[in-house]
Amino acid sequence: MPSVSQLFFPDRVAVVGATDRPGSIGRAIMENLLADFSGDLVAVNPSRSTVLGVDCHDSVGDVPDPIDLVIVVVPASVVREVIEEAADVGVKHFVVISAGFAEVGEEGAERERAISELAADRDLIVVGPNSLGIIDTDTGLNATFAEQNAMEGTISFMSQSGAFVTAVLDWAWDREIGFRQIVSLGNEAVVDEVDLLHTWADDDRTDVILGYVEDVKRGRPFIDAATAVTRSTPVVLLKSGRSAVGARAAASHTGAMAGSERAYETAFRQAGVIRADTVEELFDYGRVLAAQPPMTGDRIAIVSNAGGPGVLAADAVGETGLQLAEFEGATREELGTILPDEASVTNPLDIIGDAPIERFTTVLHEVVADSTVDGLVVIACPTAIFDHEDLAREIGAITQETEIPTVTCLMGGAAGVAASRVLDTFDVPNFFDPSRAIRSVAVLARYRDLGERDPDPPTEFPVDRDRARAVIADADAEGRRHLGPEAMGILDAYGIDTPAGDVVTSVVDAETVADRLDGPVVMKVVSPDIVHKSDIGGVRIGVDPGDVGDVYGELLAAVENHDPDAELLGIQLQEQLDMDRGVEVIAGMSRDEQFGPVVMFGLGGIFVEMIGDVAFRIAPFGHDAAREMTREIETASMLRGARGREAVNIDAIVDVLQRLSQLVTDHPEIAELDVNPLLTTPEAAIAVDFRMRIDREFDPPESGE
Ligand code: ADP
Ligand code: MG
Repeated sequence: MPSVSQLFFPDRVAVVGATDRPGSIGRAIMENLLADFSGDLVAVNPSRSTVLGVDCHDSVGDVPDPIDLVIVVVPASVVREVIEEAADVGVKHFVVISAGFAEVGEEGAERERAISELAADRDLIVVGPNSLGIIDTDTGLNATFAEQNAMEGTISFMSQSGAFVTAVLDWAWDREIGFRQIVSLGNEAVVDEVDLLHTWADDDRTDVILGYVEDVKRGRPFIDAATAVTRSTPVVLLKSGRSAVGARAAASHTGAMAGSERAYETAFRQAGVIRADTVEELFDYGRVLAAQPPMTGDRIAIVSNAGGPGVLAADAVGETGLQLAEFEGATREELGTILPDEASVTNPLDIIGDAPIERFTTVLHEVVADSTVDGLVVIACPTAIFDHEDLAREIGAITQETEIPTVTCLMGGAAGVAASRVLDTFDVPNFFDPSRAIRSVAVLARYRDLGERDPDPPTEFPVDRDRARAVIADADAEGRRHLGPEAMGILDAYGIDTPAGDVVTSVVDAETVADRLDGPVVMKVVSPDIVHKSDIGGVRIGVDPGDVGDVYGELLAAVENHDPDAELLGIQLQEQLDMDRGVEVIAGMSRDEQFGPVVMFGLGGIFVEMIGDVAFRIAPFGHDAAREMTREIETASMLRGARGREAVNIDAIVDVLQRLSQLVTDHPEIAELDVNPLLTTPEAAIAVDFRMRIDREFDPPESGE
């Protein structure tokens, strides 16, 4: 079986479309390969006999020796032909540089599909088309047309934008940031980010995976791959398209709040991917993860010759969830004798502005030896007393002797840049901004936690799948897409509690149900045309059994008043619940094109969109994820019992979220749903109101049930 990892270790590479024409891509690739590649290189071009001194063949089929990797730089219209010819002589690995595919419209998309199909048929590994190329710094394979090569390192980097690769190469070279492998993914006709996650997770020499992502085409495989990979290899992704564009027309609160950006954010978080907001952050995190030892605890020491930046750093510590180290008594005592009286011997340590380099080094030796310190940030503002580069060298030397992750803020313009260059050689990232330094160290702690996650497989509840299916099938048969309380049986089928009651279409039936419910009841209009029932006076609470007939009439009148054309399916009678004993929360789902069912949880009621305090997970998810959702919302303390109220049954919410996860996973026809409110009392979680949209586009293949 050919594998993606074999792309990077070819013995012989052929460039099809090689040329020595100045300014051409074919020439740039030849030059880059000639520069460092340790294997053999052959050129293919029918109109040349040699290219830049390399033997040139008329066609890839004519090359006498076996080829391990073909770089394709021919016009789009002949790419497929070239790949097929090479496949005929046994080539399995390709990088297609040629552009003119899906990025240029339907004709190009057609050509791209042909390549995907050929690759599937013949079991080929193809990067691109429209790729800038690939790099492996170990073999010196630079099969790109980038101006700048990469230095050797342990970061593997993939990008959906080729231009971004060239910019990064240039920028990284300057900062001595090294790479293990680089892939410009291009249009991803075959090889995509999911493949590279697996490949690099298995690669001993990749310490961290970085990526620039515009979209993820295979949502669920991506989540599964990243979830597995991030246990052993940190993955940091920069995703473009962060700002949500426009409002969506949605049939539910969940639909309105779960946009595609939200789905990405959720997928990344759920899978343990560390998300970078800027290019700088991507490489800050990448460098720290690649170069620094793991952070075993959360306690940070800050050593600074200036009060202000030290405090800024201390503030950032709080925001990242790290803690300030307390220092051992012995350390504080020792620091007291080392430092002048005006200095502080507590963290953040301010060794004050007159500190010479020796004071820094003596203090740093004390601090790294202290058992309460798990990470170190050294901050220095330039003074006339020492030279930043000298200080950088001393700090660099200390980091070589300790296992404590260290970053620095040797601040300043030219002095800061000079210090950074020195610190680069020690693999110590230097920052101008103290909070940026802290955020970078915090990523080490974050990654440690990700590595320690327990597996969290979805729970499989015994449910009545057929009954749920019947609810959907009935609605479909009647051409109804928007369902309401009349479809609450689907929740019951999945073991989610609903209030006792029924939907009726006559006063007589209403009175029978009210008798059975025994006590004051709640009555609601049931109409696909009325989304917010209480807004039109369509919900009546505390109805005496004797008044059921009158209220029935009033509800009909309310509907008539609101919209004479509204379709009325009936009146729902429910047992009256004691809302004051519980908290109204919302649980819902909206299906995302890329990632599938996005389940939402938050504080419920009619103001949910305005408050926006909600948490998301992509289904299917397990118990731990459901539990985290209940903790993640800002108002989580309301559930734990605030202001003398009893705590509600959070386990019951966790149970409902998991059952919803199973429901929407089992039935892809469900496009959106809201349970709002889900009344959660100290005893139970009960689905009081329900809304669902079904969409036959999600019809699964016949399962024979
Ligand atoms: P809608 O959201 O369409 O206005 P709901 O069924 O959610 O209609 O009812 C609105 C509000 O009425 C709920 O948020 C809840 O406070 C109250 N309510 C609804 N059903 C009951 C019930 N069975 N017992 C007590 N209060 C209820
Ligand atoms: Mg409601």
